[in-house]
Amino acid sequence: MSTKMLEKLRRAVAGEVNTDRVHRQEYSRDASIFEITPSAVVFPKTAADVAAAIRLVHEAKEAGEDVSLTARAAGTDMTGGSLTSSVMLVFTRHLNRLKEIGADFAVVEPGMYYRDFERETLKHGLILPSYPASRNIAAMGGIINNNSAGERTLKYGQTNRYVEELAVVLSDGSPATFKSLTASELEEKKTLQTLEGEIYRRMHALIVKNQKVIKKNEPKVSKNASGYALWRVWDKERGLFNLAQLIVGAQGTLALLTEAKLRLVRPKEHRAMLILFLKDFEKVPAVVREVLKFEPESFESYDDHTFKLAIRFLPDIMKGFGLRNILRLGVSFLPEMWMALTGGIPRLILTAEFAEESAMSARAKAESAARALQGFPVSMKIAKDEREAEKYWIMRRESFNLLRKNLHGYTAAPFIDDLVVNPDDLPRFLPELNALLARYNLIYTVAGHIGNGNFHIIPLMNLDDPKSKTVIQELSGKVYELVAKYHGSITGEHNDGIIRTPYLSLMFDKEMLSLFAETKKIFDPLNILNPGKKVGGTLEDITTHLIQSAR
Ligand SMILES: Cc1cc2nc3c(=O)[nH]c(=O)nc-3n(C[C@H](O)[C@H](O)[C@H](O)COP(=O)(O)OP(=O)(O)OC[C@H]3O[C@@H](n4cnc5c(N)ncnc54)[C@H](O)[C@@H]3O)c2cc1C
Repeated sequence: MSTKMLEKLRRAVAGEVNTDRVHRQEYSRDASIFEITPSAVVFPKTAADVAAAIRLVHEAKEAGEDVSLTARAAGTDMTGGSLTSSVMLVFTRHLNRLKEIGADFAVVEPGMYYRDFERETLKHGLILPSYPASRNIAAMGGIINNNSAGERTLKYGQTNRYVEELAVVLSDGSPATFKSLTASELEEKKTLQTLEGEIYRRMHALIVKNQKVIKKNEPKVSKNASGYALWRVWDKERGLFNLAQLIVGAQGTLALLTEAKLRLVRPKEHRAMLILFLKDFEKVPAVVREVLKFEPESFESYDDHTFKLAIRFLPDIMKGFGLRNILRLGVSFLPEMWMALTGGIPRLILTAEFAEESAMSARAKAESAARALQGFPVSMKIAKDEREAEKYWIMRRESFNLLRKNLHGYTAAPFIDDLVVNPDDLPRFLPELNALLARYNLIYTVAGHIGNGNFHIIPLMNLDDPKSKTVIQELSGKVYELVAKYHGSITGEHNDGIIRTPYLSLMFDKEMLSLFAETKKIFDPLNILNPGKKVGGTLEDITTHLIQSAR
């Protein structure tokens, strides 16, 4: 970035603008396999700061400078979505307040950590049920812009379902608020002689004209974060048009979020967990089908590698839990430690949690599901209470974090980390996937939201080894072709970013890809918002930005 541009940026924004080595290095990584050093790290104090930064970058780009802006909330993205070599706007330092909480909604800034948000919503008995497993480390801006999802998505759906209004700054620095509009409200918006008006005119025309292509390409699985969700914008029957649905999951490539109004739910109060231990993957599809009949609130899974890691690094996991909890949880893990010592670890653990208004009815549901599974080759137990269930949640939620933190010399490499297929296709999909993975000599963990057919496969790799690059490219292509064969999604919740944008062509047809490109052009004609993500990313980007050594 030119010195002149930097000076202007410092004058234009009230927040801090840092270009020192420490800051640039601190923000050069997320939870992906990429490393890119930003040229400046900006901490906007207000929405006006965000607008000022965008205006300056817009001007500089028009004048020929190669500059862009990428938003970052907590930086736990697994796709490289929050990385840039240009200007990074970090929201967690200042734009992190809860503005309002109502009977069934909250208004929040993008930099608020989910853990802080949930502490406040729970005071009102409310929750955003699409929270991700990274609930303790992620922030609202990332959750919305990735269309995140998690353990309760099976019952409640993903984040887009809870978005009511999004206040954003558009690519020319002008503000807009996107929400559901009636036909007459839409017509009014289309008369605006601003970028917002232009967006409404052109997006409405694009969606109406291409209904068939959009319908054909709409993912046919219960979770998806890939592409631009053009299929969610226009509700023809009800006559509603909602561009907020396009911004959710767009990874900050269409507009930058400054405030969100989110619908919240009052969850049922009591839960009972059925835990299933499987010796192999063979019976997974049949077991999943049977358990789903009992409508669990969540249905999760993790494999033996995850289990072993959890036991091995138990002291690390426990650090944040306080002495009393450490003792209680430590004791509760004794049977698992014994399993680990005696070699009795199952290949796969499934946990189905049933939520009801009373502890008794939740338990009754878990018991009915268990009865239905008599005769299946699984061992099972029902957790005594929610406290006993907690350890299984810890192992599931911490699975990826454990890998990230504890494998010195190796890197947890998310590149086939978020596949979704319809659970009915699992009997055919899983053997093919396993055969494919067996051709590569990889160590990997498998965890995920099995009820949605959503698998997180995380190989451990030495990224300094040149062979790793080849494996990443070869295997990604093959796995995503397989997912496409079963009409699945290449990403249910983690999104596209650098790692998957080049593979969108395996999931969407050419016409749909050109609609994505046109959408990007309509919102961001100069390509200054998080370029290379969602549209325009290449296989070369993946190899160029791969981290060189684990640190
Ligand atoms: C241990 C672990 C477990 C995980 N489990 C899950 C899971 O269960 N489900 C799931 O969905 N994800 C999961 N993730 C991935 C990630 O944590 C989530 O996607 C999370 O919601 C990202 O939030 P963040 O605040 O870290 O976002 P960031 O990484 O900061 O950003 C994510 C994307 O949003 C964009 N963005 C951020 N703020 C704004 C803004 N203000 N305006 C416009 N764009 C913006 C960024 O540019 C980027 O593209 C996991 C990650 C880890 C490390």
